Amino acid sequence: ECFVVAVDGPSGSGKSSTSRGVAQRKGYAYLDTGAMYRAATWLVLDSAVDSSDPAAVAALVARTELRVGTDPAAPTVSVAGTDVTAAIREPRISAAVSTVATNLEVRRLLIDQQRQIIAAARPGIVVEGRDITTVVAPDAQVRVLLVADPQARVARRKNELGETVADHEVHDQVIRRDRDDSTVAEFHDAAPGVRVVDSTELSLDEVVDQIVGLIDD
Ligand code: C5P
Repeated sequence: ECFVVAVDGPSGSGKSSTSRGVAQRKGYAYLDTGAMYRAATWLVLDSAVDSSDPAAVAALVARTELRVGTDPAAPTVSVAGTDVTAAIREPRISAAVSTVATNLEVRRLLIDQQRQIIAAARPGIVVEGRDITTVVAPDAQVRVLLVADPQARVARRKNELGETVADHEVHDQVIRRDRDDSTVAEFHDAAPGVRVVDSTELSLDEVVDQIVGLIDD
């Protein structure tokens, strides 16, 4: 039996650092499902396939090997053997990812793969994304929705991107992706039984502590 900790939240909520921190403290594996949607987006942009053709995009994703590493200390992603761990963080990927992520056949393929990774993990796994508590692993032993005020999320994203990017650009990116992602129904409110953790006023360690405290494995 794999102990599953499901963490959902919007961009900049602190999901990734928190989930990695929890996994490292517990000696669990870590799965970044957003990285899988980003890798699929990298694949589409790298190919000659028309990104506005849903069937062609799904077929491309279906025939290509996406591999995602589950070590919380060094998460990696590759597409057909090419390491794209750094490339999937580029702004061109962030700008296009919602289109690929709203492709229902792509979601079906990636969710299938996510469930296989979860089932094989020992002794536990922290899985982060947007639909983990609701769709991918609704039976997870711990389910958390991580939220934060938009200003706090913009500030964190800016910290990650560095000083070269203007405040209003980061703000636009975060707000635009909220809007693009909002067409997927499962991303909305916390489902029943999902613990909401607001990280606006908390340090990373405090959020990790709270979630580790919910784990009784
Ligand atoms: O978490 P991250 O910001 O890297 O996710 C990138 C994008 O992947 C999200 O904006 C969303 O469009 C998509 N995504 C998704 N389902 C998930 C995780 C991410 O659709 N479980």
